[in-house]
Amino acid sequence: MKIDILSLFPDMFTGVFQQSILKKAAESGIVSYQVTDFREFADNKHKRVDDYPYGGGAGMVLMPQPLFDAVAAIKRRSEGNPRVLLMTPQGERFTQKKAEELAKEKHLIIICGHYEGFDERVREHLATDELSIGDYVLTGGELAAMVIVDSVVRLLPGVLGNEESPATDSFSTGLLEHPQYTRPADFRGMKVPDVLLSGNHALIERWRKKESLRRTLERRPDLLENYPLDETEKALLEEIKKETSI
Ligand code: SAM
Repeated sequence: MKIDILSLFPDMFTGVFQQSILKKAAESGIVSYQVTDFREFADNKHKRVDDYPYGGGAGMVLMPQPLFDAVAAIKRRSEGNPRVLLMTPQGERFTQKKAEELAKEKHLIIICGHYEGFDERVREHLATDELSIGDYVLTGGELAAMVIVDSVVRLLPGVLGNEESPATDSFSTGLLEHPQYTRPADFRGMKVPDVLLSGNHALIERWRKKESLRRTLERRPDLLENYPLDETEKALLEEIKKETSI
């Protein structure tokens, strides 16, 4: 996968792309990142990328020209038809499902806004997707782009080893993940549940499924509304409800 990012602050990405999984994915050739300062594309003498909003009001608005031309230049060297993701608090809420959808693409272009945002024509005629990482306002789209890149890249085949498989992560299954424990079995009197030490794989699987359901019921009951429970899960959920009298 190729990921092109358009940002006025390209240095913000240096550390993030040079650590951990994102670095490993690039080193193994599974992904390549290119961060471009779209100021380079401004066709005016002073390389201005923003201007006052028509109609007055506070703040500056990103002009369409540098962004349209930067995206066109990237598309000219693309082999496919890249999705153009606009970072905006007004966009569709980014979810694991969206990350899975984007992980199937060959090439993504991510536009990071700044100041008061961008000219509406960028939204209407350049973006294929408008994405928000949550109901709060960031100074710029860079942190949102990093969140999206990280969650997409870890899903690309070959990026995570088997032992780190994303298949059981929270949200991938439609539920929150079960609690995890590691050594020691008794840490200052705080004990690991006996079943996990039993070596009985069927019982361990049952416990994990039940705790995953319990956790989801307690913390994110909204996820259960759309989750297709099978018969075993229905029975486990009934057990949990009886135990906790929810
Ligand atoms: N005035 C804009 C509004 O109310 O929609 C907010 C502009 S914000 C200060 C500057 C930029 O940060 C946005 O153009 C967008 O690229 C990015 N941004 C801010 N919050 C975001 C969020 N929750 N998700 C994704 N991008 C965000």
